Amino acid sequence: MGLLDRLTRRAAPVAPLVADLRAALSDDRVRVDGAERALMAKDASVFGGGVAGPTCFPTSTEEVQAIMRVAARHDAAVVPRGAGTGLAGGAIPLGAPIVVSTGKMNRILEVDEANGVVWVEPGVINLDLSRHLRPLGYHFAPDPSSQAVCTLGGNVANNSGGPHCLAYGVTDAHVAAVEVVLADGEVVMLGGLEAEPAGYDLRGAFVGGEGTLGIATRIAVRLTRNPPAVRTLLLSFAAVRDAAETVSAIIAAGIVPAALEVMDQRITVAVENFVSAGYPVDAAAVLLAEIEGLDDGVDIDAARIEEIGRANGATDVRRAGSDHERELLWKGRKTAFGAIAQLAPDYYLHDTVVPRSALADVLEQVYEIADRHGVVVMNVFHAGDGNLHPLLLFDAREDGTLERVHAAGAEILRASLAAGGVLSGEHGVGVEKQRFMDELFTDADLDHQNRLRRAFDPACRANPGKVLPMGHSCADIQALRSVPTEVWG
Ligand SMILES: Cc1cc2nc3c(=O)[nH]c(=O)nc-3n(C[C@H](O)[C@H](O)[C@H](O)COP(=O)(O)OP(=O)(O)OC[C@H]3O[C@@H](n4cnc5c(N)ncnc54)[C@H](O)[C@@H]3O)c2cc1C
Repeated sequence: MGLLDRLTRRAAPVAPLVADLRAALSDDRVRVDGAERALMAKDASVFGGGVAGPTCFPTSTEEVQAIMRVAARHDAAVVPRGAGTGLAGGAIPLGAPIVVSTGKMNRILEVDEANGVVWVEPGVINLDLSRHLRPLGYHFAPDPSSQAVCTLGGNVANNSGGPHCLAYGVTDAHVAAVEVVLADGEVVMLGGLEAEPAGYDLRGAFVGGEGTLGIATRIAVRLTRNPPAVRTLLLSFAAVRDAAETVSAIIAAGIVPAALEVMDQRITVAVENFVSAGYPVDAAAVLLAEIEGLDDGVDIDAARIEEIGRANGATDVRRAGSDHERELLWKGRKTAFGAIAQLAPDYYLHDTVVPRSALADVLEQVYEIADRHGVVVMNVFHAGDGNLHPLLLFDAREDGTLERVHAAGAEILRASLAAGGVLSGEHGVGVEKQRFMDELFTDADLDHQNRLRRAFDPACRANPGKVLPMGHSCADIQALRSVPTEVWG
């Protein structure tokens, strides 16, 4: 069957599809009303074009399996969805697919201390998991700034990171096993609780797969012990370059802090107006450094960081003197994106990675590129990982603004690639960076990635039109975008 036939077939009237989904779940958990579908059409990114089909709210692996089987029978596409906080458009439904929301699969199933894992359903919210584990002395280490709302399923699919991933690693390092429902309805367990699970590391392939390899229905994530001692430092600088160079110098000295976050003056001013976190508003940049470990060790590392900071131009170094002060400093960092709502109604939060040694140079280019496009940029980022997050502010109601923002974003991306970086540190590729994939990968690389995707999902029904660029098979389903909206029900 040709591609065109397949596309046409998927766009056929859908009432029988909805009826089958309702028979598999229940009427109230298969929604086709306009409001629900409008909500599901977007995520937190600046990308549009989404058209949701029927939205399903399964409560178990068996129900996800039933949805996948109905989808296979009707040759319909399926998009998994967590909280919709993704910034690369990964959860945007292209061509009116079935949306599978994991919102009702939100149980923490079993804390298995012997194996050092906790089993969760994919809809569990990141912060809820750490709160649940706290009395037992553990937490889930990846802590995206969206952790109060984003889900473990979304974290796994995007291989998400967070400020505290510098020492502990991003999500991939914390997933021992994941139960997946494949596009044909088969249930597989990838990875395992053994130290060295047998066979190829398909778990590793699935983590970061952005929903294109199947739907995660149960996840065993590693328990991370709460550290006995924590020290938090705030270093101020008269130049962003000094802050960036301090980051490289700290790592070069053999210290691996739990977190090394840089914020420029524009963002600290916005944060201070928003939550009064105690940041200096006259510094060109601040570096928030956190060290975790045993009491004596953290004091030694804190002293060395202070020394390195001063040697690299720190004008002030402050240590959080209490839990309250520490929490405030982190509150400022984690609410930074909310803080900028005072300044502009819209923002595009970019995400690229550069070698740490190139941070200072690429940052200078970021400011220059944004200025040249007439766009206000702020920088708040996971500096220890070389993970840049230029935040481009705009007002979408002004004609031509979004185009300028995208043009600046593309140049920032290319500057990062030219410095030896990669497309994304944590937000994923989704629809955002698809068109840049062939600037990082060769045709042969992309072909192999497409083959891997097809090994999981030969018919390309799981989250079609994402990650791989046009011309690389599964991505051609992107043409579904142009299919007109159906009347459902
Ligand atoms: C203010 C703000 C701050 C952020 N800060 C960070 C940060 O510090 N670090 C970071 O890494 N990200 C950050 N993000 C991005 C986002 O929160 C993460 O990517 C998060 O992991 C997405 O989770 P979600 O539940 O919202 O997933 P969604 O947006 O719903 O989906 C994301 C992707 O996962 C897929 N997916 C969802 N559930 C499943 C499943 N069960 N099985 C298979 N695929 C699935 C979707 O199809 C989609 O491709 C931030 C976002 C915002 C809005």
